[in-house]
Amino acid sequence: MTSAANEVFAPAKINLTLHVTGQRADCYHLLDSLVMFADVGDRVTVAHADQMSLAVTGPMAAGVPDDARNLCWKAAQAFGAPVAITLDKHLPAAAGIGGGSSDAAAVLRGMEQLFGRPSGVDALSLGADVPVCMVAHAARMSGIGEEVLPLFMEPLSAILVNPGVEVATPDVFRALDRRDNPPMTPWPEGGGTPAALAWLAEQRNDLQPPAITVQPVIAEVLQALADLPDARLVRMSGSGATCFALFDSGTPTEAMVNDLRSAFPQWWVAGTILS
Ligand code: ATP
Repeated sequence: MTSAANEVFAPAKINLTLHVTGQRADCYHLLDSLVMFADVGDRVTVAHADQMSLAVTGPMAAGVPDDARNLCWKAAQAFGAPVAITLDKHLPAAAGIGGGSSDAAAVLRGMEQLFGRPSGVDALSLGADVPVCMVAHAARMSGIGEEVLPLFMEPLSAILVNPGVEVATPDVFRALDRRDNPPMTPWPEGGGTPAALAWLAEQRNDLQPPAITVQPVIAEVLQALADLPDARLVRMSGSGATCFALFDSGTPTEAMVNDLRSAFPQWWVAGTILS
């Protein structure tokens, strides 16, 4: 035992690209994705306890399960020790930004510190996004999520927008036309942000067109982001509905965030730095 309680940040996971390159015989999809992490996210606290418990608090708590259906609970069970978990929810759920996966990874990291031992948990068994969320900084994710290659990338300024509609990932995969799309082209070593932005523009999120058919409001979000001055790239993350706009490093985004919140008061809008 190394401490009584541990608070861990669970950052939003943003798929800057998401190529669906195949499907295995067991139906799992093969992916090729460049993932970065935001400085907005949930907060998970784990504390020693005689039995498992979970309290979900915060501005985005509504509708998030507070029992064994929650990935936080599953992660703690996989670790194999009872803990009292508090999940302070700031990210929209079912939003393509890995809320549950990042929370699960945070529980594992927090419990490793709390109990002073490695978790020994196969992160993939908790979900395809959990291995990359264990790394929690820029990485290329491939296979069915188990291959994670950390990348050096300069931080990127971004605005994230979620229109407040939940999107179920299976619905989007069902609406996907082709599962054998090309992987990402080779990552440009060196060249900094300009090269990264140019390369990103040539890549895709293969789930974006099917997600728009499932939730047409995603097209409105993408248009609102594309209309922002100086937006260099606009795309959807994961299976949606959260979309992002990228800017040159150091572009001040606060005024744009405030304008979007005024124009679309029902949308969740966050300015962030991705790393
Ligand atoms: P991904 O980008 O990995 O597909 P997502 O952001 O689309 O993830 P989640 O936020 O993980 O999706 O939520 C998907 C569903 O999982 C929710 O509808 C919710 O019922 C359930 N869930 C389980 N654990 C959590 C959690 N910790 N936070 C939010 N939702 C959770």
